[in-house]
Amino acid sequence: MLKRLLTYPSLKAPLLTLGSVLAVSLLLLYWLGTPAEEEQIPPSDQEVMAALEATDFHNALIPPLSPPPDWDQYTLQQGDRLSHLWQQKWHLPLGTLYQLLDQEGASHLNRIHPGQHIEWLASRDGQLLVLRVWRNRAEGVEWQREAQGFSFNELSTQREVRLLRLEGTLNGVLSNSLREMPEIAGQEGAIAAALDRHLPLRRDARDGDTFSLLIEQEWLTGDPSPYSTRLLAFDYSGQRMQIRAARHQGDGRFYTPEGESLIPPFNRIPLVQRYRISSHFNLSRRHPITGRVTPHHGTDFATPTGTTVVSPADGRVVRRGWHPFGGNYLVIDHGQGYTTRYLHLHRFLVNRGDSVKRGQRIAQTGNTGRSTGPHLHYELHINGRPVDAMRVELPSVERLDNEDLEDFKKHSEKLFAGLDNQLMLEELALLLPRQNN
Ligand SMILES: [Zn+2]
Repeated sequence: MLKRLLTYPSLKAPLLTLGSVLAVSLLLLYWLGTPAEEEQIPPSDQEVMAALEATDFHNALIPPLSPPPDWDQYTLQQGDRLSHLWQQKWHLPLGTLYQLLDQEGASHLNRIHPGQHIEWLASRDGQLLVLRVWRNRAEGVEWQREAQGFSFNELSTQREVRLLRLEGTLNGVLSNSLREMPEIAGQEGAIAAALDRHLPLRRDARDGDTFSLLIEQEWLTGDPSPYSTRLLAFDYSGQRMQIRAARHQGDGRFYTPEGESLIPPFNRIPLVQRYRISSHFNLSRRHPITGRVTPHHGTDFATPTGTTVVSPADGRVVRRGWHPFGGNYLVIDHGQGYTTRYLHLHRFLVNRGDSVKRGQRIAQTGNTGRSTGPHLHYELHINGRPVDAMRVELPSVERLDNEDLEDFKKHSEKLFAGLDNQLMLEELALLLPRQNN
């Protein structure tokens, strides 16, 4: 992805510096993905601090747009409304959509229809950087963020989809094992990160574990490296975990062959009872005193000191610490890109590394750090980006059922057959639905 960004002509200039930061963060990801080493070298608090600094704390300076993680994509379904998708599913600021609807190319947004493919790149703090709307596999339009507003361009290209099946044995770090595979040269970090989202690799991966991956790569004619790489299915067979799962077309999440989700269901609030919300999630909040735009990346609950905080979903405590602004804070990783954060705590009831269940008591709220009164600041991040935990659609099903399960089984049977080498990839490619054309 990095290569792709850097070779894309119009993105070259602004992303050169982003590129170098991205390279560093990929390195960091790779380093954080090291299963055995995590126990010996405590992960750098610098990363936590940088991330925490970028969040609320009411007075903190917001750093400029940080490097984007990766392209997101969506194929429009019957009955989709762009404004709903934009805010609820893609977690982009609605103001940006209005901005685009008010400038050159707006007709392309007004005329979207089911089956059309949309891709976008957003910064880590949720600002849209590039939006592409494809009319078919070869033609589309693009909006790109500039210093002032967005520029509009027509796109024309040829794409080709290739399927890959990779098999390996873990030796040290997953990305090391992947590095020996020339088919995915330069992408091993991204693939390792994708798998890391779905499996507790850092805790449970061991040398000698075996895995197979089914990957879809999209190529644009004439490009030396793939335009996008997507994990479709995987099978991991190890000493401490045995998991196989495939991506469900309906929601893009991974499920076991029986239709069980790899992501746990979520409660809306991390408290036993409702408290008044004293400050809502708001990406364009102006600070009452400085007048600067200081996004509020969480929801504040007006809780008296000592109020019990409960985990909204199963997960693992990945951070427990102190920050001058955030006070005592906890970070819980729930898998598949979902993490939650709790700031200004009075007391911790769990330790770093603990596994927690939905509803388990994890802390007591307080007034620590830079806080104007006792409250809980609660954040939900999806794929590294803060979202409005009070409004976003939360994972609620542990299992697919009825039609969803039927659809998933029909589709995943083919993926698993490809994964298990019972079906040639050329055949599988013909069986998979095409988004356009
Ligand atoms: Zn807050």
